[in-house]
Amino acid sequence: MANIVVIGAGLGGLPTAYELRHLLPDCHTVTLISDQPKFTFIPGLARVALDIDPLDHFQLEIEPLARQHGLDLVNGRVTAFNPHSKWITVENGQTIDYDYVVIATGPGFAFDQIPGLGPHGGYTHSICSASHALEAREAWLQFLEKPGHFVVGAAPGAGCFGPAYEFVLMADWILRRKGLRDKATLTLVTPEPYAGHLGVSGVKNAQKLTEALLRKHGVEIIADAAITAIAPDHITLDNGRTLPQDYAMILPAFRGVQFILNTPGLGTEKGFIPILPTQQHPQFPEIYALGVSVNLTQPDQAHVAIGMPKSGQMTEAMGMAVAHNIAVELGAIQAPLTVPTLEAICFAEFGDTGILYVAAPVLPDPATQQRRYAYAVQGPWVVWGKTAFEQYFMTKMRFGAAVPWFERLGLKALFGVDLVKPAPTPQKTVVNV
Ligand SMILES: Cc1cc2nc3c(=O)[nH]c(=O)nc-3n(C[C@H](O)[C@H](O)[C@H](O)COP(=O)(O)OP(=O)(O)OC[C@H]3O[C@@H](n4cnc5c(N)ncnc54)[C@H](O)[C@@H]3O)c2cc1C
Repeated sequence: MANIVVIGAGLGGLPTAYELRHLLPDCHTVTLISDQPKFTFIPGLARVALDIDPLDHFQLEIEPLARQHGLDLVNGRVTAFNPHSKWITVENGQTIDYDYVVIATGPGFAFDQIPGLGPHGGYTHSICSASHALEAREAWLQFLEKPGHFVVGAAPGAGCFGPAYEFVLMADWILRRKGLRDKATLTLVTPEPYAGHLGVSGVKNAQKLTEALLRKHGVEIIADAAITAIAPDHITLDNGRTLPQDYAMILPAFRGVQFILNTPGLGTEKGFIPILPTQQHPQFPEIYALGVSVNLTQPDQAHVAIGMPKSGQMTEAMGMAVAHNIAVELGAIQAPLTVPTLEAICFAEFGDTGILYVAAPVLPDPATQQRRYAYAVQGPWVVWGKTAFEQYFMTKMRFGAAVPWFERLGLKALFGVDLVKPAPTPQKTVVNV
């Protein structure tokens, strides 16, 4: 009998815990540790911050879900971790032993990288967590009373850019509908070499469609830009230019969470977990990681540093591979082990239109530098697709389902995308370092 511990009940951790419960016989325990009482669907937070939807639309209480779906829940933040003795300490002092552990703790936020960045004592907002989004909404409502300079962007080293495009274009859409657009200037500042790069170069039509849409809506694009300082009323760039701001939402660079940074040998310098293709830690085979917590190196060296995007769908694929591989290790299902394909589709919504970005896979083949395909397409149906997906995702979390067979079939039929594939043998290489 084994205890499999999943740390973090977010977009990756909760479905992975469900899939483990589904694959493993009852003699094994699946323990979920969450520092939050509620699951939050992070991609919905731009809508919360712009006062389009209430926060509870994107949240679910974890305790009843764990009870209904056979998970042992521990409420609290993991503060210490010993990969040699295989124990975990939670902030209330409780110590938990594991046979296998899945690290699904998402991002830590590098707000300290730039003076004045972030909602905790800085002068910019964020939509990366539920509390950030609520604070950003308060400020947005005040901005609507007295519109002015609206700046949206990402800090150097950030790897998540789609939400910035969504935020600035949805703000434009709202301002127009309220008859306030001529009272505001809208600016996008990004470390990407061009708008539409998203941390993934060579996606057909992505630059053309994204730039055209931003320009059509009067958004000034400042790409290849590094923000160096933020004051209450302006933002300074590395070329000396200053941008006036009355409201700014700047996505921070990500790092690993604190207990990873504090545990020697567990993560990289930035606190991300190195992984083999099967999502296992190269030194500790009983440790698996998924989602934003894993180390994926950005292959494109741009003028300003950018990180590697780790989208929701990539996260789910990693989670499915992790659950499958632990079940194989425990003899509950048959080999082969699997690896995530990291073929990603991303729906970005902009009010009355949207862009679908597809990269299969996100990381090009290291030998040929080619992908199977990568393209972007635009249309109002992207907005409907994103809304439908949100509702579908929240429903399957309520029902304790991870990625049902019909979802896998739909991804394949509609987009030609697979989530996982059999692992190469033997697998010794650490993923893209
Ligand atoms: C604003 C925004 C918009 C996005 N929009 C999209 C989108 O439209 N489409 C898309 O595909 N992707 C999108 N993404 C990316 C997507 O949200 C991530 O890929 C996904 O959330 C990663 O899942 P995760 O499980 O790694 O992290 P999370 O979903 O962040 O979950 C991590 C969980 O671990 C918990 N945790 C952290 N530390 C501890 C600890 N020490 N102890 C216990 N628990 C802990 C956290 O509280 C959290 O609940 C967006 C990201 C952001 C920031």
